[in-house]
Amino acid sequence: MPNSIPTTDLKTLHRADLKTFFEELGLEKYRSDQVFQWMYQKNVASIDEMTNLSKQFREQLKEKASIYTIRPVQEQLSSDGTTKFLFELEDGKRIESVLIPEFFDDGVADRLTVCVSSQVGCVFGCAFCATGKMGLFRNLKVGEIVDQLAYINLHTLEKYGKRITNIVYMGMGEPFHNYENVIESAHIVCEPKSIGLSPKRITISSVGLTKMIKRFGEENQPFNLAISLHAPNDAKRDKIMPINESMDLKSLKEALQFYFKKSQNPITYEYLLFDQFNDSKEDAQELAEIARWVPSKINIIMYNKVLDVVLNRASEQRLNSFLKTLTNLKVRATVRRSRGDDIDAGCGQLAIREGQPKGKTIAKVN
Ligand code: SF4
Repeated sequence: MPNSIPTTDLKTLHRADLKTFFEELGLEKYRSDQVFQWMYQKNVASIDEMTNLSKQFREQLKEKASIYTIRPVQEQLSSDGTTKFLFELEDGKRIESVLIPEFFDDGVADRLTVCVSSQVGCVFGCAFCATGKMGLFRNLKVGEIVDQLAYINLHTLEKYGKRITNIVYMGMGEPFHNYENVIESAHIVCEPKSIGLSPKRITISSVGLTKMIKRFGEENQPFNLAISLHAPNDAKRDKIMPINESMDLKSLKEALQFYFKKSQNPITYEYLLFDQFNDSKEDAQELAEIARWVPSKINIIMYNKVLDVVLNRASEQRLNSFLKTLTNLKVRATVRRSRGDDIDAGCGQLAIREGQPKGKTIAKVN
């Protein structure tokens, strides 16, 4: 007869709850550390694979607990080394993560950045984003976020001989819309028994959820904050980012000033440069004003075209004059060149192609 007693999926638990779970079973603390390491460093798919635990202990644990590990289903490798991973979740939903390697001149890997997903789809419907077109299906659980990183970390150890060096929460979903699980996952990967990354190597990027930006500052979270800005004024931002209608630039400014006062951490503005939309001299001048709200830098991103989106990547010529205006105005700006052009590297493009139906949205965007 199949065992009908429900077990606890240990990967849905936050660290404190995992410890409590083991305490309640009357088990020593080091047991929970061992299990933690198997789950988040060695990325095993079952309790049976935790081989430094006795068979008897594993059998006991399986009566109360289980683990679920996300399943890799596809990998796309770009000629520039960018790799996109498609993962399947327990309920059949699919998410993606991107590994963006940067190399020294001699070809040795320098930075190994992973762009991680925080939700299945996204409710915010930004006009330029493939994930936004899917709508939101659900939040990712803690383990589903960490699994992406643990899997890719093993991949980089094998392929490049080193662990991942940076994490950006800029994949599918709005991280601050799944705040608790995202923050917990970031703390988990900083643990020495997991990937052991410094919090300063982790950036959480938000579309501008003002309440959560304030909370992030209030809690003094040790991670970096980036804001997906993409437009230099409300009129343009309204056109491409429906969130701006309820949380406009004035409220964003107020939230960021609160955040900076609490954390003293500078922020990064992500700015996709769209041809003839937000790339004029006047746009750069307005952007420079925003850059002075709090200490910050601008990260200009060259757009990866998404199917059925009318916006296009700005030309090199327009990029250069945009940058020149910013530099003349003494704004710190860097350019992130588009990576993985020959694969579906824009967030959500691979998952959406796999035919998921539409989820929840806050706005209809053409
Ligand atoms: S850009 Fe981010 S917030 Fe906007 S729709 Fe895409 S995933 Fe959501």
